[in-house]
Formats: sequence, C-alpha cells, structure tokens
Amino acid sequence: MMKLLRTALKAAAFVLAASAVFGCKSTPQVIPAIAPDARVEAKVEQVLKGMTLEEKAGQMVQLSIGIITAQGQDDVDPAKMDVIFGKYKVGSILNVMNDRALDREKTAAFIAKIQESSMKHIGIPCIYGLDMIHGASYLTDGSLFPQEINLGATFNREFAAQMGHAMAYETRAAQCPWVFSPVMDLGRDPRWPRQWESFGEDPYLQAEMARIETVAIQGEDPNHVDLEHAAVSIKHFMGYGVPHTGKDRTPAYIVDNDLREKYFRPFKECFQAGALTAMVNSASINGVPTHANKKLLTGWVKEELGWDGMFVTDWADIDNLFTRDHVAADKREALALGINAGIDMIMDPYDPECCTAIIDLVKSGEIPMERIDDAVRRILRLKVRLGLFENPTWEHEYPEFASKDFAKQSYDAAVESEVLLKNEGVLPLKGTERIFVTGPNANSLRTLNGGWSYTWQGNADAFVPQYNTILEALQQRFPRVTYSPGVEYDNAFGSWQSENAAGIAKAVAAARMADVIVACVGENTYCETPGNMDDLNLSENQKELVRRLAATGKPVILVLNEGRPRIIGDIEPLVKAVVDVMLPSNYGGDALAALLAGDENFSGKLPFTYAKHINSLHTYDYKVSEHREVMDGSYNYDAIMDVQWPFGFGLSYTDFAYSDLVLESPADFKAGDVLKVSVKVTNTGGRAGKEAVLLYSSDLVASLIPDVKRLRGFEKVALEPGETKTVTFEVPAHELAFVGADGLWRLEKGDFRLSCGGLGVMARCTETKVWETPNI
Ligand code: BGC
Repeated sequence: MMKLLRTALKAAAFVLAASAVFGCKSTPQVIPAIAPDARVEAKVEQVLKGMTLEEKAGQMVQLSIGIITAQGQDDVDPAKMDVIFGKYKVGSILNVMNDRALDREKTAAFIAKIQESSMKHIGIPCIYGLDMIHGASYLTDGSLFPQEINLGATFNREFAAQMGHAMAYETRAAQCPWVFSPVMDLGRDPRWPRQWESFGEDPYLQAEMARIETVAIQGEDPNHVDLEHAAVSIKHFMGYGVPHTGKDRTPAYIVDNDLREKYFRPFKECFQAGALTAMVNSASINGVPTHANKKLLTGWVKEELGWDGMFVTDWADIDNLFTRDHVAADKREALALGINAGIDMIMDPYDPECCTAIIDLVKSGEIPMERIDDAVRRILRLKVRLGLFENPTWEHEYPEFASKDFAKQSYDAAVESEVLLKNEGVLPLKGTERIFVTGPNANSLRTLNGGWSYTWQGNADAFVPQYNTILEALQQRFPRVTYSPGVEYDNAFGSWQSENAAGIAKAVAAARMADVIVACVGENTYCETPGNMDDLNLSENQKELVRRLAATGKPVILVLNEGRPRIIGDIEPLVKAVVDVMLPSNYGGDALAALLAGDENFSGKLPFTYAKHINSLHTYDYKVSEHREVMDGSYNYDAIMDVQWPFGFGLSYTDFAYSDLVLESPADFKAGDVLKVSVKVTNTGGRAGKEAVLLYSSDLVASLIPDVKRLRGFEKVALEPGETKTVTFEVPAHELAFVGADGLWRLEKGDFRLSCGGLGVMARCTETKVWETPNI
C-alpha cells in the first residue's frame, strides 16, 4: 500500500497533459504510470537525435539467439554478429541456445560478446531477454521456485516477493537484464495448456501476486533499475487465457465489461507499479488480433494509463497476422498494422529482413516517422533505465546466487502450495507402513517442474539430477518404500501425451504386498501449443491403474502432479486421500514427503476451481443464474455448482474455527469509504498450522447479473494449537464496483454481503456512483 502511495505521489508531481505527450484526445489529464525522469529523458533524446532510420528500424527488432549461434556450439559466432549488428543494427536478442539452459558463467560470457559487438557496430547496447518463469529457470545452476500456479495456492504474498527477487538477482548475475515474467493471464479455463503459468483464476489474487513480483524483480524505482534487479515483461497482454476452443493461441471472445473489470486488472496494477515492458497476447479478442488492437495497446495502456514503457510482440506474431489470422495480406501489411497499433519491438525470431521492411514502410509513408520515433524512444528509455548505456556488461558481486536462502524459500513455497483435497484418516502416515509408490509421475523431476524448466518443454531430469523426485524423497524419509511405475510417459519430443501402460499388472501385484499405496498421476511436462489436448479427463491408462490399485483393498493416496486440474470424478471415490502438488519444482518431492509424514502441515488452497464434469467448467465467480438442472429436468436456480473442489478449498491436519466476523466501519457506505472487516480465526486442532483467510463480497442486486461472489482480500496466518488471531481487512468501497454494459465503472446502491470462513455480514451502499473515467 505504502509503495503504491509513494508511486502515486511521485507520479502526481509529474502530472502532464497526456494530450501533449501521448497524443490522447479523450482523457484531459493523465498521471503517468511511471513518473518520467528528466535525466533519463535527456539521454533518450540525445541518442535518438543521432540515429539513422536504419538504426531506428534495427532497434525495433528482436531476434532469437539461434541466428547468431556458432554451429554446433554453445557460443555466439562473431561473423554472424557482424551481420546482425553491423548490417541490420538489431536492438535485442532473446532465448537460450540450442533450446537448453547453460550455467551462469557461460550465459554471462556469450552475452558479454553480444554487447561488445552491439557497442562496436551500433554504439547502443543490446537488450537480452530470457524466459525466466519460476525463478532463474533458464540457468542450470539457478534457483527454481514452484510455478506461479503453486504460488497462487500458497495465498502468501511473501513467496511472490521472494521468487521475484531471486529471479532478478540471479538473472542479472548472468549478465541478462530482462525477464519475460510474470505471467498474468487469468487461468480461467483448465483446457488451456498454460493455466499453470498463472497465479490462478481470480483477478484479485493474480493482481496482488503479479504486482508484488513485478516490484520485486524491478526494484522500487523503475527509472533506475540497479544491478540486482531486472526489467519485467508482463504478459501476455491480454485475455490470452480463455481461448474459445481451449487450445493455445486461438481466438477468445470476451465481453467488454469483463475485459475491463477482470482481465485488465492485473495488467493495470503492474503498469502502474512500474512494469517496464509488456508482451502481447498471441491470439485475438472478439475477432481482433491483439497485435493489431490499437484500442487496447495505444488506447487503454499508453494513453489512458500514460504508460511510457515498451510493447514487444510474442513469438513471430507479426507473421501470424497474415499467415494465421488473415487480417493482412503479407508481411509489409502486417508490420504496418502492428506498429501503427502500438507495437514497439518485433520479436521476429529468425527474420532480420524485418528491419528492411520497416525502413521501406517508413519511406512509403505507411508508418509515420513519429510512430517510429515514439517506439524507439520507448526502447532507448528501457535501456537507459536499466543502466545499459553506462554498463552494457557489469562487474558486481552476487553472493546470494544459488544460496541456501533461496533454496529454503523454494522449499517453503512448495510446502505451502501442495493442497490436501481429501483425507479419510490415512494421513499423516505413521512412518512404519510398507509404502508402495507408483504412477508415471513418481520418479520424475521433470514433471515436478513442468515446462519452462531448463528447456522450453521442461526437462529437469537431464539437468539437475541432484534434486529428489517424489520417490527419492519418500525413500529418504520412510524406511519401507517399494516402487513400480505401472504407467510410464514417452519422453521423446512431441510424444508427451503417449503412455506405456504395460506395467500395470506388475504394479498391482507389488501393491498387494504393501500397507498403503502412493499413486502419483497427472501429466507429463508441456508448454504452450504442444500442451493442447482434446480431453481434460485424466488419461484412461492412469485411471485404470488407480482403479486396479483400489481394487486390492489397500488404501490409495492419490498424488496429482499436473499443470491443470485433470478430471478424476470417477476415481476420486475409490481413494482415501488426494493431494494436488501441481508443479512444485525441485523441492516439491521433499515437501510432499514432509507433508505426508506430518513433519509439515498442509496449508495450500486451490487457486482455481477443480472441475468434476467435462461439460461443467466454471470459475468460482459464476453468475447465480448459471443454474444447474436437477434430475427431473427442471431448473434449479439455487443449486450450487457441482464441482470436484471449489476455488479456495484445501484441508489441513488441524482445524480452524472462524468467529466474530465484524464490520468495524459503518454498515452504510459510499464510494470513497473504506470497509473495515475483522474476523477471529482459532486453531482448534492439535497441530500448528497456517490458514489462508479469504474474504469475499457478494453484490445482492445489480443492474448487470452480479457474480455470486468475488475475492476481496486474503491473509495467511500461522496459528499454534489453541491460538486465536484477529485478521482485519480494509476494502476500499470502489473495489465493490463493477463495469456496466456501457463500459463505465458503477458502485450501485443496495446490499452487499461480506463473507469469510462461512460467516457473513451485511453492508449497504447508500448512493450509486458512476465513474466517467475508464480507470478507478
Ligand atoms: C511464448 C512467450 C515467451 C516467448 C519467448 C512465446 O512462444 O508465448 O510466453 O515469452 O515465446 O520465448
């Protein structure tokens, strides 16, 4: 809060007429998202003045490292760099060589060579960017954290800050100043193969965690990013996570009020917290490819928020405007469309001729020179803010690199993120049992990490065998562990969804000799389009394994290791316990062993709705009128959703009782007021535990069908047995507003219910307020 206030105050000191700076017509005064810094601006102007059109076009292009990689080596080729920087004046490079991570030293060494070539040929530093997604996930010796979906499940803001800090610090230590993180697409559709890259389905949870991570990555002052921080690229702006087909990079259809109220929210908060760059949604919204969406890129962000940062395309997405989306006839048209819509840097991985095309388009008048200058200013501003002109490479000590502290934070985050969904008396284990471990995910570090882990599709086993798989962690913690996989994944490239089920009979025979079965099922790793699939049900092989294990009569503990909730409605009744570990990374196996043993307590809660039926994919903030038909075919408007487990669900080894939910501020409120709510939480069980306390609001009557409830606050509290703590939430009344059919924010007169831990309290808005501005 203080941080935000400070940013706002700083920004207020630089209130500028947006019409003068950003060519904005409709909004008379805009407080810039990032307060401009005179010294930065002077440097930008000085460099821009001396640049040729060729140099400007080159700055706007970002190529993949493959284009300058020395054949068969983990190094750059000086002759290739002479062409890319000497002839084309390219401004940015991304990605890892040969689709795999290198260590810090090798990464730093080749980036230094890139900088040397860029400075020699252009006199402007190159900006290198990497997909650091869950920690320094593209460094073989970096610290990896649980994926964002797990951090969402912790409902603990500290982990977003810790991951952001470690990611930036270690990336900088490898001479790289830019990370393509955090992801803030709302994971509202489990069919989409990137749900795990988000913090979950809720806009508030997503916004909180992403904003905190953004500030942790960049530091407090976006105008001066120091040598222990990096620039973010918040992504993918926006609405990428809800493709109509469920398939990656396919069209979304989102009603305007949801777009503004839910999908824009995390982005807006991060822009206003200083995010220096943003990557654009590869697909389209309501028929308009986002890369060609001037209203969103230039209108909503650059003009309405007064944002002076830089938009970079996603992978080859200018090409997609003509090859896939058919909104342009060829590359030239596509480039003009994207750049005129507000794209500043073109990630055109393999095509340096993109630079020539931009030059041509300027000469022919299809892209105005002012637009080019605006884009280049934004690119130079980023480089100046990162200090790259003074230090294209840098010498700095990084004693925390791969430190025990980072490892401990990653382990703690894994512990707090693994969610206990069912426990019929089998957990915690006593420790003396004969434990039979099985399933395709039992002995795989790769699946604990998921995609974006050392390689694009994820292949942790090949890089960091020193960490424990679930099997290895259980073997270390318990004396009597046996193993047989039952079902195995095919790890050959492109065959991730293939399975070999020949071992089921052997596993079932082995299970008969045990006291308890730990069945580790779920998904192999995937990332982006290769994760597309046609059936959200857990694979038939794995279900068959579970059915046959359960038929032995031995208690089955089902461990789900998956990037999205795979449907298990028919096998869930057969098992005694369920834990969803999602993608907890390198310490996820150790965390699980400690949790199953009761050395640690569960405190994770689902950051998404776990569906039970394939045709009933819902989010927790559904409309009351999304009724469910009852058996006789009649409508039942009161029926709650029939889901496997709701958003926010998670068990513990102890019990928590909620009491005294009190509205401490007056029950009548208006816009501008702050609602203050407190609740008492008591640990009534016999073990210490942590509880994520979630506050919801429900607007009982509104001019648009209201969501049944919305998350408005969360706090994680630690409680010893018998201990009570009071948790207080302050919710600004404008948080209860929604975007109406006319696109304006509305806080409407009437009753609101605030609920927490099964308790409720009423408040009443006494005056309708409509905001005439698009942002509140
Ligand atoms: C992904 C982005 C990623 C980019 C660069 C794209 O395919 O959608 O998330 O940052 O590649 O690797």
